[in-house]
This record gives sequence, C-alpha cells and structure tokens, in this order.
Amino acid sequence: MSATLIQLIEGKDKLGHDSGEIKKVSFTDIKSSADEKTLLFRAVAIGAKRQYEVEIFFDDISFAEKKDADHQLLTYIKSIPFFATMPSIHKTPVKVKCSCDDYKYTWANTNNAKDAHYGSVDKFVVTGRGKPRNAKHQIGLCKHLTELTTILEHKGKLHQ
Ligand SMILES: [Zn+2]
Repeated sequence: MSATLIQLIEGKDKLGHDSGEIKKVSFTDIKSSADEKTLLFRAVAIGAKRQYEVEIFFDDISFAEKKDADHQLLTYIKSIPFFATMPSIHKTPVKVKCSCDDYKYTWANTNNAKDAHYGSVDKFVVTGRGKPRNAKHQIGLCKHLTELTTILEHKGKLHQ
C-alpha cells in the first residue's frame, strides 16, 4: 500500500469530473483484527436504483486494551471498548473500494495498479464509447468514498 487518502482526494479533484449528487451514505460498521493489525470501515450508499458497498481499509494499525497517548477509542464490541491508533489522512497508506459504476470504471484499475484498491478488481467490458474516463491514470475516489472519508473525519476515526 502506498497511497494515502489525501492523495486519492487530490487525484479526484484533479480529474474534476462531475460525480453527481449524493443520495445517502450510511456508515455501517468497523471490522478490525488486532492479530492482522487491520481496520476496515464500511458504509452503504443508496443510489437511484441500487445500493453500493463502500469500503476503506488500513493495515499496520496498533490496537490496545487501554486508552493512552497513541490509542483512542475505536469502537465497542459487546460493550467492551477497543482502542487503536487512528489512521491519518495524510500519512497512513490506504486501500479503498466502492461497488458503484463511477468507482469501477474511473478508479478501480488505476487504484489497483498503485496498490490502493481493496480486494479484487471486478472484470468488466470496456465498451469503447466516448472518451476514457481517466486518461491520465489518476488515483482517486468516487463520491461515496469521499463522503465516507468526511463521515469518518467527523466521527473522529480519521485524523489529519
Ligand atoms: Zn461509489
């Protein structure tokens, strides 16, 4: 993993395509593994016709049973608190994925090539119509991933 969220946000801004209005992105859950040092934030986005799965993944996260200078409250699992080093937008390498078409067609392949895509890349048919969406091979985020980043910042799960 080599890209950070700020680099993905900057890539999206550079491409500057209109990604339309966001209907609703609802944060659903956090999956973490202290053994694997991984942290996965998940959300569901409600589109006009479909629901999309939105995922932001970090590894090399440090977990602890108590709060200290480096570890803040991440979540409760069965009312037991879990503490972790909160990922940084500017510093922590990240992988992302969304099941929407914009992510699939604009970002998935480039993000995957830069090791910033989470999971496998769905195979899809390139129709060849119109201009390529991302001719400069910019890494970036769809509107749902951008919104989930904002939600996580507001919840204090991501820091600068
Ligand atoms: Zn999306």
